[in-house]
Amino acid sequence: LIELRDVNKHYGQLHVLQDINLTVDRGEVVVVIGPSGSGKSTLCRAINRLEPIGSGTIFLDGQPLPEEGRALARLRADVGMVFQSFNLFAHKTVLENVSLAPLKVRGRGKEEAERRSRELLERVGLLGHADKYPAQLSGGQQQRVAIARALAMDPKALLFDEPTSALDPEMINEVLEVMRQLARDGMTMLVVTHEMGFARSAANRVVFMADGRIVEDRTPEEFFTDPHSARAKDFLSKIL
Ligand code: ATP
Ligand code: MG
Repeated sequence: LIELRDVNKHYGQLHVLQDINLTVDRGEVVVVIGPSGSGKSTLCRAINRLEPIGSGTIFLDGQPLPEEGRALARLRADVGMVFQSFNLFAHKTVLENVSLAPLKVRGRGKEEAERRSRELLERVGLLGHADKYPAQLSGGQQQRVAIARALAMDPKALLFDEPTSALDPEMINEVLEVMRQLARDGMTMLVVTHEMGFARSAANRVVFMADGRIVEDRTPEEFFTDPHSARAKDFLSKIL
């Protein structure tokens, strides 16, 4: 569903993505891990074309991502993104946050958008909070709203960039549980996370990045029991 072929990107002298080849098949959950600065966030932003790439091709559903314009906007709407900072609109209610993009971008009617938004809020366990403002919710609840908002566009795939890193420990699990449920429902997901429990239990593959390269791309069982590279061994010894 998502394929990166020989993708390279520089920030000035820094070769932040080096010959990245990666596929995420339909219904697959791929967890990306690696040290700080290894290029994980850049990879996510490149897939969504929030960042231009230097060379290579990114395919979505078999089609190369266009550089710009309407076609890009359409394809970008097919890939939802959830960030570490929830990026909710502070002056809009939870329901408005979730229904806004379908109204504007998908051109849905207000009633239809709100009905669907309520369904999604129910799915993330927040239907009772539809009329609150983000500031009235906990971090974990806000992140679940952000997930509902991403789902409201009916994306083909979801990208998560450290979705639980800004959360207090007791809220991490409620967000991971929503993500596990999405995975069980067959959503295609690329997840950058330091939550190794999630990687072990929910991922089809673990991609380990270091210095802008994909160093390992294997099943969680293989990766966690027998990492091949010195970089991965070192990384795992520090976090496990
Ligand atoms: P972290 O785990 O800390 O989130 P990361 O793996 O997500 O790290 P990136 O944010 O992708 O890493 O950054 C990769 C490298 O690119 C880093 O060295 C970073 O300093 C650099 N970088 C990121 N964004 C920019 C930018 N807009 N301009 C210049 N350099 C950047
Ligand atoms: Mg990052």
